[in-house]
Amino acid sequence: MHSETHTPLQRIHSCATKGATNRQLCNETCNPNKTLPDTLLRLPTPKAGHFRFESGLHGDVWLDLDGLFLRPRALHPFVAELAARLAAHEIDAVCGPQTGGAILAQLIAAELDREFCFAARVAGPAIEYRIPDRVRSRLRAKRIVAVDDAIYAGSAIRATVADLEACGAAVTALGALMVLGDSAALFAAGMQLPLEWITRIDAGLWSAADCPLCRSYISLDDG
Ligand SMILES: [Zn+2]
Repeated sequence: MHSETHTPLQRIHSCATKGATNRQLCNETCNPNKTLPDTLLRLPTPKAGHFRFESGLHGDVWLDLDGLFLRPRALHPFVAELAARLAAHEIDAVCGPQTGGAILAQLIAAELDREFCFAARVAGPAIEYRIPDRVRSRLRAKRIVAVDDAIYAGSAIRATVADLEACGAAVTALGALMVLGDSAALFAAGMQLPLEWITRIDAGLWSAADCPLCRSYISLDDG
């Protein structure tokens, strides 16, 4: 873990080494993906602060994921690496929640020459994703990986996995370009599924009642 003197902004990288004072140093010393260019974390422009998410949970990192897919060629090395890791799970198809997860799923499916499908957000207060009717019967008994561009609270990937299972698919692994905090790992462990990811961002996530930022009277940011 990082020194407690680090600000939240200094925690936004994949480093787990105490004493790293900037992200460049961090990547030189402990980036587990040394063969990949140091650009993935720049693409979504992470912001530190105090945020309330769609799930109602509070967290201290916000990612502008709209920027992630602006330059497909810059993103490609990370997609290819994630695809290679997911290929080890002998998959028939790749599925992701709209919109970022679906874009990533299509890129990975193209990389591996597998089938692609997506889950669309169902309108309403509950976080629910559903695979289109015309595709559902084709997924029965297929081995499918569920991916999202970034997993923080994990609401979208959970809902996607639930709907894949409702279609009769066998979910064999989870994948993400970025995982924030521990929710993705906890969900994967609970489902007894392997989780493949490229970068982990140290991020807190709390219910409003347990949020230390609320307790410190730090006002919410807009994101
Ligand atoms: Zn809060």
